[in-house]
Amino acid sequence: MIPFNKPYLSGKETLYIEDAVKSGKISGNGKYTKLCQTFFEEKFGFKKSLLTTSCTDALEMAAILINIQPGDEVIMPSYTFVSTPNAFVLRGAKIVFVDSRKDHPNMDETKIEALITPKTKAIVPVHYAGVACNMDVIMDIAHKHNLFVVEDAAQAIDSYYTGKDGIKRALGSIGHLAAFSFHETKNIIAGEGGLLAVNDEQFINRAEIIWEKGTNRSSFFRGEVDKYGWVDIGSSFLPSEIIAAFLWAQLENLEEIQKVRKAHWENYNSRLSDWAKDNEIMMPEVSNYATNNAHMFYLVCKSLEQRTQIIDKLKSNGIMAVFHYISLHRSPFFLQSNEDKLLLETDKYTDCLVRLPLFFELDTESVITTLLK
Ligand SMILES: *Cc1c(COP(=O)(O)O)cnc(C)c1O
Repeated sequence: MIPFNKPYLSGKETLYIEDAVKSGKISGNGKYTKLCQTFFEEKFGFKKSLLTTSCTDALEMAAILINIQPGDEVIMPSYTFVSTPNAFVLRGAKIVFVDSRKDHPNMDETKIEALITPKTKAIVPVHYAGVACNMDVIMDIAHKHNLFVVEDAAQAIDSYYTGKDGIKRALGSIGHLAAFSFHETKNIIAGEGGLLAVNDEQFINRAEIIWEKGTNRSSFFRGEVDKYGWVDIGSSFLPSEIIAAFLWAQLENLEEIQKVRKAHWENYNSRLSDWAKDNEIMMPEVSNYATNNAHMFYLVCKSLEQRTQIIDKLKSNGIMAVFHYISLHRSPFFLQSNEDKLLLETDKYTDCLVRLPLFFELDTESVITTLLK
């Protein structure tokens, strides 16, 4: 049997967890949290990074930080996970969904500007499969209309965008704020875990306060104030040192993990391309401004029937392939308070996209030969 996903373990996870436990400091913001946060800031150029218990939490922090008020509008793709809109809906926002690109599930940046109204507050690009959205266009629109950009970089660790200026920037370092996930289905895992990246300095102080339940405990620990207290709204967004210790064991192996995942991805890509062409199946697209972090290998079938056949064929050979993201603009929850909308590209991915197994220990050959026979 080949599962869809199998969490990768570097081997040092339990060692570091034991170290954290023995140190007597197992709540958050200790040694391992700091090691992880510094790693992200140095490697990816985030001005400030804060570990969270999930990407969902990091998105909720972002919605608080940009001060979303009831009735504010937030533009995002409909082809995404529910946490992307939920974080903003929790603060009373109205979600305005934009269609996906014809060649990629990412938001179609050419359709954003028409959706902007005086109530629009933010744009939330989701870097699907870890492949960058067209960030120059999105940031230009945001500057022109005075909007915030929150990158949903849940799938985008160690992936990059090269802008018009020729500079290659890590995804998550471009928008005002960004959210990453370390859920066990992502490239780098902690079971459940996430990260808020703060790139606009105006948010750094308040981000720490919201993270620590609305208190200025972080500045207290740094000796900047002589007592700490309740200074703002907030919640318990920080993970324990046990989670951070696990994550640190993963981060130490980032390069090895990425190398192996990319080799699997390249194998799928080269061996399946002729077969895909013959069957009118679309292979994953990586725009020339983007890099591929091998988060996901997906195919876009020509029809729902073809996708069902492929999933069934793999399944009868013990291989689990899955589809996901039922268009959120068609979801029962969204339609309770919003009008039905026509987003044809989103619906195409909902009906036709299938994800093949992709994990460190995968034997891609068995999946490929099953598909080709
Ligand atoms: C995985 C994922 C999330 C949620 O991440 P959690 O860490 O499970 O909260 C949000 N958005 C996208 C696009 C994701 O893929």
